[in-house]
Amino acid sequence: MVAICALGAGLAVANGGDNTTSASVSPSGSPQPGAQVNDQGWTAPTTGTITSHFRPPDRPSHEGTDIANAEGTPIWAASGGTVVQAQCTSSSCAVRQVGDGCGWTVKIDHGGGVFTRYCHMRDKPLVNVGDAVVAGQLLGYMGATGDATGPHLHLECYTAGYVVDCEPFMKARGVTL
Ligand SMILES: [Zn+2]
Repeated sequence: MVAICALGAGLAVANGGDNTTSASVSPSGSPQPGAQVNDQGWTAPTTGTITSHFRPPDRPSHEGTDIANAEGTPIWAASGGTVVQAQCTSSSCAVRQVGDGCGWTVKIDHGGGVFTRYCHMRDKPLVNVGDAVVAGQLLGYMGATGDATGPHLHLECYTAGYVVDCEPFMKARGVTL
């Protein structure tokens, strides 16, 4: 069985993003073993196999890239920034529920309208809103909370505040997912 999510309507919710504290927070974390931070300051956020792409013909409302691996696989910040979301975005993150959103989720503001968002984490994220994070910092672990058929990272990328395909987005930053 291929681990993907059926995320669609309602996913590309504009995040208000309380950015009032972002400039004053010092990064507290460090890149984790396994994260390969490049000279542009970016890294793949996890390891695994892409199981669903951005808006494929049969899933036009799927606005992320699904990367599947074993439950508990580390998820790292793709680049430095400020955490603007760290919460359960589903009605429950204790159980897997089809049609029930992103599960345990982190969103990072990288500045300049660039964001990355990480869905379906196994547990409550290891970072909190307002935290400054560095590229490669451990955010949490791969899981299947929310609308997921199995453990995977649903990765979303934003430029100018709009959701875009993470594969070319990351490629432009020197990272192949
Ligand atoms: Zn997905």
